[in-house]
Amino acid sequence: LNYPTARFMISAPTLALCPDDTGAEVAFAGRSNAGKSSAINALTQQNALARTSRTPGRTQLINFFTVMNDESRRLVDLPGYGYAKVPEAVKIEWQKHLSDYLRGRFSLRGLVLLMDVRHPLTEFDQMMLDYADQRGMPVHILLTKADKLKRGPASAALQQVRSRLKEWEDLVSVQLFSSLKRDGVDMLSQKLDQWLHT
Ligand code: GDP
Repeated sequence: LNYPTARFMISAPTLALCPDDTGAEVAFAGRSNAGKSSAINALTQQNALARTSRTPGRTQLINFFTVMNDESRRLVDLPGYGYAKVPEAVKIEWQKHLSDYLRGRFSLRGLVLLMDVRHPLTEFDQMMLDYADQRGMPVHILLTKADKLKRGPASAALQQVRSRLKEWEDLVSVQLFSSLKRDGVDMLSQKLDQWLHT
């Protein structure tokens, strides 16, 4: 699919207010600052499709984008998670919306989970993997900001994450990614094509 054709469709605060649950969509999740907005912008070659620095604490929305003007093929930007300054009650509320969406969204074909290559597999990441596992949904992990490491340490980090996820082998794939260098964009596009061509 031609991801640079992605256009903003709608934002929803809860699962109930999401667009019709038909067709196919792929969601992007990650801790705040993992590089999610930058990755969506690199994929779609648009500098401001996903905003890069969100204001922590304000209402967090699920953002939907169409691909190739087709409302039945969607990219979904899930709010970042883990802003230190957000009150506990808001965190719990948001976690509920996130789990509702991940567990209940029928048209969701796969989850792209972004992790800083230097700090992979946080508690949040494990929680996302558990939600995906509960419904047998595939997850594609982007180890982001790979340009921050030299080639050797970057591939060591990749191998380490792969071996830690051995038990999930059938459902989980992992790659290095750099929005800055545009490294890994093609591999990501191919994975999304697999998921959205159904
Ligand atoms: P988000 O909170 O997950 O949406 O993260 P952002 O995309 O806003 O990125 C967080 C910070 O990491 C910003 O300062 C980005 O410039 C930086 N960043 C994102 N991707 C990369 C990358 O590929 N390489 C480097 N060096 N920095 C990046």
